[in-house]
Amino acid sequence: MDGALVDEVLGAAARIVAGGAISANGHGNVSLRVPGAEEMYFTSAPSLRGLGPDGIARVGLDGRLLEGTLPPIQGAVVAMHTSLYRDRPDVGCVVHTHSPYATAFAVANRAIDCWIEALAMFGLADGVPVAAYGPRGSEQAVANIRAALRPGVPAVLLANHGVLVFHRTVDLAVLVGGVVEEAAQAAINASLVGGPVPIPADLRAAALQRAMAFDAVGTRSA
Ligand SMILES: [Zn+2]
Repeated sequence: MDGALVDEVLGAAARIVAGGAISANGHGNVSLRVPGAEEMYFTSAPSLRGLGPDGIARVGLDGRLLEGTLPPIQGAVVAMHTSLYRDRPDVGCVVHTHSPYATAFAVANRAIDCWIEALAMFGLADGVPVAAYGPRGSEQAVANIRAALRPGVPAVLLANHGVLVFHRTVDLAVLVGGVVEEAAQAAINASLVGGPVPIPADLRAAALQRAMAFDAVGTRSA
């Protein structure tokens, strides 16, 4: 396996754990598309906590194990990752967790609305949709994810299960996972004081434009 890609996956797992957008048992998986190949690196260990190189497998986008080991319980969710890579050529990293607050919304079968500006800035101006429940990794679950997603939307709640985020890079996928968890936590806290209020739709676009303007400035000065 390519040491640099292994390190990138391990780094992502470590940052997710450090950021706290993960359940106590550390359950989840990170995958990384292998550039120029129909393959991904996939965390095959049961927990992202304390993940080492032996917890990473190389898996074809057809679901075939190419290198390493893949216990059945982890293998069951491979299709969730491979279908995203096949459907969306721009996606380079997929992260699945049971981050506690986002999973509360998933268990309640309730979408996360655009309650905080960061959602609007990272492709979630219409909030985080919910994919209807299907047994994990099943064709039904994958079909439900596809049905819930719209072009450019980088996250989806998995009803009665957890959350799935995906983006061009590891950095962006980890960042979006943290933003989704932060929004969910803020909303649950806000439910004690009257309930969360969505940002007005026209101002969500303005938040994104400001983010893009900052981005452009950053590009020019680089
Ligand atoms: Zn899961």
